[in-house]
This record gives sequence, C-alpha cells and structure tokens, in this order.
Amino acid sequence: MNVTFYTLGCKLNYAETSQLQSLFERDGHTVVPFGQPTDAVIINTCTVTENADKECRQIIRRALRVSPSAFVGVTGCYAQLQPEEIASIEGVDAVFGAKEKFQITNLIRNFRKLDTPHCFVGDLDGSLEFVEAQSSETDSRTRAFLKLQDGCNYKCSFCTIPLARGKSRAMDFHLIPQKIRALEASGYHEVVLSGINLGDYEAATGETFTDVVRQIEEMQPRLRVRISSIEPNLLTREIIEIVAQSSVFCPSFHIPLQSGSSDVLRQMRRRYKAEYYRDLIATVRDFMPSAGIGADVIVGFPTETDAHFEETFEFLHQLPVSYLHVFSYSERENTPAAEFSALNGGVSMQKRAERSKRLRTLSAKKKFAFYQSECGTERTVIPEQRSAETGLWTGWTENYVRAEFAGAASLVQAPMRVRLKETDGETVVSEMLHGASRFDASAISYIPIMV
Ligand code: SF4
Repeated sequence: MNVTFYTLGCKLNYAETSQLQSLFERDGHTVVPFGQPTDAVIINTCTVTENADKECRQIIRRALRVSPSAFVGVTGCYAQLQPEEIASIEGVDAVFGAKEKFQITNLIRNFRKLDTPHCFVGDLDGSLEFVEAQSSETDSRTRAFLKLQDGCNYKCSFCTIPLARGKSRAMDFHLIPQKIRALEASGYHEVVLSGINLGDYEAATGETFTDVVRQIEEMQPRLRVRISSIEPNLLTREIIEIVAQSSVFCPSFHIPLQSGSSDVLRQMRRRYKAEYYRDLIATVRDFMPSAGIGADVIVGFPTETDAHFEETFEFLHQLPVSYLHVFSYSERENTPAAEFSALNGGVSMQKRAERSKRLRTLSAKKKFAFYQSECGTERTVIPEQRSAETGLWTGWTENYVRAEFAGAASLVQAPMRVRLKETDGETVVSEMLHGASRFDASAISYIPIMV
C-alpha cells in the first residue's frame, strides 16, 4: 500500500512522523510524497497551531482531491485533545491519540475507508512509554533532530501540552551515545537534542539533562550538537560552563521567557521571575559573548495589562538576546488561563495584534544588531540548501546566524569555514574560506545587543 504523511507543528512532531514512516515501511508499505496518489493519509497534528481544525480540514480536502478513496488517519496533540471534533471532519476514518500514535499499523490492518470513523484515543493517566524518534530537516542529511524527552510535568496555565502528551519521560541514558554515534556514522554533521521540556530530562536511572550534556561532551563526537529549547530554570550553570568551553556543543540557546513581568509570569505559573531570567542571560553572555540566544514571548495573556506589556517591552529592550519568537496568546480549552479570560474578557484581539507587532519589530532590530555584530568574524556553516535561482548556499553558523555564500551545486555539504561580511537582517552574506571540522568556537568578538 502507498501511504503519505503530513506534519503540523514542532520539530518533535516531524521527528515522530519520520518514526511513523519507518514503522509503515517496516510493515511493507511505501511512503509517497504528500500530494501524490495514495491509499492512506496520516496527518500528525499540533494543538499550538491557530485554527488547527481549519488547517486539518484543508489538508484532508487536498489529499482526497488526489486520492478520493484514501484512508484518512489523524494523530498528534490535537487528536489527543479533540478526538470527536476531528472524527466529525468529513473524510476522516480514524483518530489516534498520543499512546496509540505508534500503534497505527497494529490497530488498522487493511486501511480501507470506514463507514463511521473510529477513535483510538485512550487517556494519558499513569506511566507512558518513551518512544524514540529522529528526523532530518532536509534531504541532504546535514542536520538531525534527536528526541530525548517527551511530555511535561509542569502546569503553565496557558498550555495544553501536558494534557496532549502526558507526563515527562525520557530516552534511556545509556542509549544516547549509541544514537549519536549512529547519526555520525550516517553522515550527519549536526544533531539537535529535542524534547517537549528537554531540560526536565530524567532517566529511569536518575541522570539529568546536565548529565546528558556532560556525557556527550566526554564522548567527543565528530558532529556538532545543538540544544533545542530549554526552560530557564533548568539551564544549569554547569551546562553553560560545558557549552562555553566545548568544541562539540554550539553556543546557541533558545530559552522561553514568555513575559518580562514577574506578575504575569506568576499568573502563567512559570517557575522563575523576570530578574532570574535577566541574570541567566547575563551569565550566558559572560561565558559566551557571541552566543545566539532566542527567547519566546507571549503577548496578550488574559491578565497582561498595558503596564505589564510596557514592562515586558522595556525588559526585552534591555535584554541582550539575539531574537524573539513572539506568540499572540490564544485561549485553549481546559486551561486556567482560558478561565481568566472568560472572567475578565481577556485582552482584545486588536491589542494582541498591536503588542505582537511591536515585539516583532523589536526582534527584527535585535536580530539585525546581532547579525551586524557578527560581520567580520569567521564561523563554521553546514551548507543545507542551495537556491537554483541565486546559486547561493544557506546554512547556520554554530551561534545560529543564517549565512549565505556562493558555491557550486556540487559542493560537498560538510562543515565549511566562512567569513561573515554584510547583512540585511535576514541572512549574512559570507565568503567561503575552506572546509572545517566541527567548528572553532574560540575566535569570538562581541558587540552588546541592546536596541
Ligand atoms: S514547560 Fe510549560 S509551556 Fe512548556 S510544555 Fe510544559 S507546561 Fe507547556
């Protein structure tokens, strides 16, 4: 049977779709690209996506236009949270929850269209098994995402992920070197350690994420390693110290902030205050002056007043981070924050949009300043993609600068030393120097990023 997949949402979802594809292939099915005639379509959904159901409907319509009699299965976070809603979408044959996601080929045998949709969605109480997953962002196999952790034990008041993915669980600590060596042997040059709340990694044998970082540093793989998003309260000084002196770990961090007001952080049930976050960024900067540092921020949380937002704006304005990921708050069913919103009416959509626009503008300025401060430095880029139109290769430096440089289509996609020259704020035009092994984190200059 031919089967096609479609993924919405985060990198972890992409890694899990790859895992699902392998399970189908192991059972003798052929994976075909989305949009081609197929016998079955599996959609891996996200709950963070705005209008998840609209998006889901559109994808189903697109798939059925090409293959009207294809079996349609929907899984992922949205499927776990709203199975009935999904089952009512025209064309859906089955809905699979978080526990059932990797059981699809056992639950359905002949993948024929069903008269009435089936919901295979159990509750997430009790202990859940950790299911491995990894994926590549491009066909070139330059960068892999390796899932080390799943689920979350936190209770941030705006978030449905713990409801959609269940309790925190992690990959066996002793398996990690094996997985990294396997990626290295397959020719990858970078691995991104991923998880829902990665810093909360805790192995059944008691090791923490700091132990994971220490273990990887000790094994000295030939590829470079990047830590994906990590909660501020879980980014330990030891991790910062290891990364700072490492020739394996990239000096780049993504540290969710969510608000620059400690009042709002408390209502969000985050586990730190704004001052703590400011001190943490100062520590990272002390150790790694030109690290790329990104921060997530939510605007329009139901209790965020104009004064709170101005406090957040000023906080971020002073904060030496390299870019922001700005999200407009949107109400999620069964969360305390949605109840605040029902009580006080929440922040108007217009205000959410205005606040979001102001922070996006601030982010663009910060990114421009960061990229500009990098001009003149030498960095290591792993070329990921080449534009047929411009003939330019693009890829990321170790400290998360998007660099582009001219190179032949036949160029070997391996670490490349480049000199960063000039920027428009989106990419940095660079000059290719020579091949490199991993990266040289030593030659670092820095201009403080405050705009
Ligand atoms: S840490 Fe908070 S925001 Fe992140 S997944 Fe857990 S509950 Fe959601």
